[in-house]
Amino acid sequence: MCYADTVTNDDGTATAFCYCGWSADHATPEAADTDAERHQTAADAAESALAA
Ligand SMILES: [Zn+2]
Repeated sequence: MCYADTVTNDDGTATAFCYCGWSADHATPEAADTDAERHQTAADAAESALAA
C-alpha cells in the first residue's frame, strides 16, 4: 500500500511523493495534493486487483 504526501518548495511549487519512490513536481500545492491522492488511490486499486 502506498502512502503519498506533499511538500511545498521555497519557490511556491510543490512536490508530491510517496514512500514507494514515486514523485511528481507541480506548480501549486493544490495540484500536488490532487496528484498524491490520485497516486495513492491508483496504487490501492492495483493492489486490490491483484488480491482479488
Ligand atoms: Zn506509491
